[in-house]
Amino acid sequence: MSTFTGRFLKVNLSSGNSSIGEVTTADKNSFIGGRGLGINYLYNNLKPGIDALSPSNKLIFAAGVLGGSVAPGFSRWMVITKSPSTGTYMRSVCGGNFGAALKNEKYEYLVVEGKSSSASYILIDGKDVKVMDASDLWGLDTEKTQQRLQKIYGSKARIACIGPAGENLVLFSAIVHEQRTAARGGVGAVMGSKNLKAVVVLGKGSSLIPADKTSFFDIVKAHNHILKGHDRRKKLTRFGTTFMTTGMEKKGIFPVKNFQEGSLPGVERISGEALELFKTGDYGCYACTTRCGNIVKIGEGDFKGRVWEGPEYETIYAFGGEIYNTDPNLIFNANLLCDLLGLDTISTGATIGFAMELYEKGILTQNDVDGIDLSWGNGDSILTIIRKIAKKEGIGELLAQGTQKAAEAIGNDAFQYAMHTKGLELPGYEPRAAKAHGLGYAVSNIGGSHMYGYCRQEISGRPEPIDPLSDEGKGGVIALSQINKAIEEVLILCNFADTNVTDQLITDLLVAGTGNDDFRDPDYLNIVGERIVCLERCFNNREGFDRKNDYLPDRFLKEPLKNAGPATGEYYKKYDTLLDEYYAAAGYDKNGRPEKAVLKKLSLEKITSDL
Ligand code: SF4
Repeated sequence: MSTFTGRFLKVNLSSGNSSIGEVTTADKNSFIGGRGLGINYLYNNLKPGIDALSPSNKLIFAAGVLGGSVAPGFSRWMVITKSPSTGTYMRSVCGGNFGAALKNEKYEYLVVEGKSSSASYILIDGKDVKVMDASDLWGLDTEKTQQRLQKIYGSKARIACIGPAGENLVLFSAIVHEQRTAARGGVGAVMGSKNLKAVVVLGKGSSLIPADKTSFFDIVKAHNHILKGHDRRKKLTRFGTTFMTTGMEKKGIFPVKNFQEGSLPGVERISGEALELFKTGDYGCYACTTRCGNIVKIGEGDFKGRVWEGPEYETIYAFGGEIYNTDPNLIFNANLLCDLLGLDTISTGATIGFAMELYEKGILTQNDVDGIDLSWGNGDSILTIIRKIAKKEGIGELLAQGTQKAAEAIGNDAFQYAMHTKGLELPGYEPRAAKAHGLGYAVSNIGGSHMYGYCRQEISGRPEPIDPLSDEGKGGVIALSQINKAIEEVLILCNFADTNVTDQLITDLLVAGTGNDDFRDPDYLNIVGERIVCLERCFNNREGFDRKNDYLPDRFLKEPLKNAGPATGEYYKKYDTLLDEYYAAAGYDKNGRPEKAVLKKLSLEKITSDL
């Protein structure tokens, strides 16, 4: 008995064949689960230099090593692939019940390879795996797709699917499950390029039994007891992450007008309290007791009266400050439309904000944008543009490439206004007002992600606050944050369900869940985390990424931040020093490549010649 199943499933869409593989003991010991097993598989099985949208790419759906257990917040899942938007390694995380269902079918991960000759979906019923015809699903939005499939397979079937945006290979299209998304890095386009509309997991298998059942359940019981009375948990259940908006704006961290400034007049209209007025209920992922999802009833607009899971902080930034909007209904409508079409809300909002700044600067004219008025805050244009992006119609064809590629196509200095790192649009934290967090965007191996090396010390003051404005001595903080996150994502622990989660709790759950006593040694887990981050960097190095790709956009290095309260006037004065500090802490050379000694320490010396 263990929460580790020891198996993975491989489906080749070109042949329609599937096979079950065993995770080797060496891989299990070196990478444990989730993100670790994912990068290990991808690194060893993907040829460098392939086109991410070709049949050669692989799409991995991974659950965590405790996924499907009763541990609250440990059943998220992720998609791992080579990204078509960045050309880097990508991992894109999602909530809901899909990961738990995969584990209940006794798989740690599913690898999809090849390309189906026509629209298809994968049906997983334990060992019975079929590639099915999806021609009647192609073109449907993500809600209708799931409804159709649940009509056939029952309401307990767990479905991950793409919408029209993924079918049309929009480079920031998402994979959607229930009303949650594996949003980042164009994972939906990879699925679309394989003619794969959905993966259906029937999840009829029994729940996994922890190795030490009594201890595991005791630990979970005690943890849930603390969570029940914990103020942070209560706040997250009440607001989700929406409470962050006004606090971030006060500190100058909430990006406004495509990161031009840090103040949004009327921000209280989209505060946590304001959005709470639309709330009709909570949503929770599998076994989660925090239940941070806010179900809302939309008050106005195209989707007036629809009940849907409301936006979290990042989406409030993307369709709020980023485009200079304080109408909550516009945010609700844009959020729902992106979910239906299968689009990443962060990249969609950030790409529209980029276009709005180009419009302001006269680089794009009304003629260039199909006659649409792209003035800041013009709500009427937003849903139209989103639909055009998903269809790749008119101006949508250009914007569907994301900011980096669209800027290259536009020319005329447009790149100065493309707020991305490595091609991934930036989330809702102004780097100049949170400098370690911003460094984290730049050195992340998936591009501009807030979750890859989340600097809790700057954003939420946990465990100890650090001065967010200082740009010295922070390289080590980010190197360590990346390692800690990698350990959490072996289990795929949710960032918002981490109240009361300590290193000790993680260790205790891992040992009781898997029966592996090696996990008691904190150094063991640290090495696993470091190995995962390092292998992800090696993947990128092998693809040609190095120091030149670890920079923030010039705006943050040269332009003092405007109207941003305590962060007004801030910019990175010593970016290269910070970058060198990060490399030194991570054990990389000046060009951002792991030193041989580090590869040896992490038992990765066999890949030295790849680099
Ligand atoms: S805290 Fe929210 S996102 Fe995280 S597992 Fe729970 S419901 Fe899902």
